[in-house]
Amino acid sequence: MIRKLLRRVFRKHTAPAPQAEAAEIPLEVHGIRREMISPAARKICSVLQEAGFKAYVVGGAVRDLIARIDPKDFDVATSATPEEVRHLFRRSRIIGRRFRIVHVMSGPETIEVSTFRALHDESIETDEHGRVLDDNVWGTIEEDAARRDFTVNALYYDPTTEVVMDFHHGVLDLKQKTMRVIGDPPLRYREDPVRMLRAVRLAAKLDLILDPAARRPIREMSELLANVPAARLFDEMLKLLSSGFAVVSLRRLRDEGLHHGLLPLLDIILQNPTGERFIWLSLENTDARVRAGKPISPGFLFATLLWQEVLANWNARREAGEHTQPALFEAMDEVLATQAGKLAITRRIAADITEIWALQPRFEKRSGKMPFRLIEQPRFRAGYDFLRLRAEAGEIELELPDWWDTFAHADTETRETLLATSKKDAAPRKRRPRKRKPAGADAGTQGPDGD
Ligand code: ATP
Ligand code: MG
Repeated sequence: MIRKLLRRVFRKHTAPAPQAEAAEIPLEVHGIRREMISPAARKICSVLQEAGFKAYVVGGAVRDLIARIDPKDFDVATSATPEEVRHLFRRSRIIGRRFRIVHVMSGPETIEVSTFRALHDESIETDEHGRVLDDNVWGTIEEDAARRDFTVNALYYDPTTEVVMDFHHGVLDLKQKTMRVIGDPPLRYREDPVRMLRAVRLAAKLDLILDPAARRPIREMSELLANVPAARLFDEMLKLLSSGFAVVSLRRLRDEGLHHGLLPLLDIILQNPTGERFIWLSLENTDARVRAGKPISPGFLFATLLWQEVLANWNARREAGEHTQPALFEAMDEVLATQAGKLAITRRIAADITEIWALQPRFEKRSGKMPFRLIEQPRFRAGYDFLRLRAEAGEIELELPDWWDTFAHADTETRETLLATSKKDAAPRKRRPRKRKPAGADAGTQGPDGD
């Protein structure tokens, strides 16, 4: 039945054109009832409409709702300028420079409200590679739709009428599981190379096939990602990794050869079986958490992605006779510094990453007062989760995280007993010949030398 309805709706349009007239898709086809829209987005649309402007929920949220995925957030597009939006909502502020939008706060939500934008012409400012630098020329809804990246993203939902305005056959593409670029893919990738990453990420998330025309140019054009500011790439990678579809997205990125500039050593890491297992395990955990609606920490995520590099660097230093802890700090600094040029990890996240890594050798000390101090650490839980991941990937023995789990949940008396026994257990392994360390420094685990 849906198929028949769709055919009827789309009969007028056979090929996607940049500025087509919209098809008005009814509720029976798209299935989005207004209650599925967040209260804030609904309210903002109705305030704007009552003031005489056009206003729609747009982009990712509409796409996800049609695909029966919970939208991450709701964005609104309107014919009102940022200043007009700003005047209608007391709790709002204009943000951005290259791309000015308004953040409107309503209840606990913040909604991004953007003004319809005009299509690019020669007067638009670009860098020497064709990347658009200034994007604040207002336009019509048709133009706004044509300048969005993919057909499945050029959908406008009116909560008042429950109609979807579809300018580029996005609903049909979505139902037919195809991801298509609006306009000429190479041109659109040149304007903004991040669109290549978005293509792969969104296709993975929505389980869509990249249309051959959209897929073909990617391999050749992937080097354009080098011109994208590192901070923007970081945002995009973070989105990818925290989408709940990190595993599929990263596999697809690899298939398209797009990961080179992002996580430079991913190839090397994935050649090492422990490294490969570690990364996929960590991303599977992350995906499961996201899908269960639990929070994830970007620090933890990047700590896992870069760990194999730290480990290799740390091991090399230890084998050269450096002491465990200073060697680790040197290794961490070096890896983060190398990464900074490609993917600008924010300072706060870098601090989180460092904390998680720095805790690792402390888990090896299972005697004296140290374990009591460690479990009181605010980052104990993150450090412990990281330790367990290392064990599950086969880098260290599972016995270590198991021990800490028991220790953390035990009463004082049991803890004393645990300390006494672990010391005994640890003794034979402590005397490995090539480690020149003070007694007790490496008790109870093979440490990072083992795999
Ligand atoms: P997500 O599920 O990650 O939120 P999204 O498609 O909603 O994916 P946003 O960054 O929230 O991504 O963008 C909202 C909308 O803005 C998109 O659906 C798309 O229409 C448009 N858009 C975003 N980035 C671009 C881009 N680089 N080029 C063209 N249009 C874009
Ligand atoms: Mg979105």
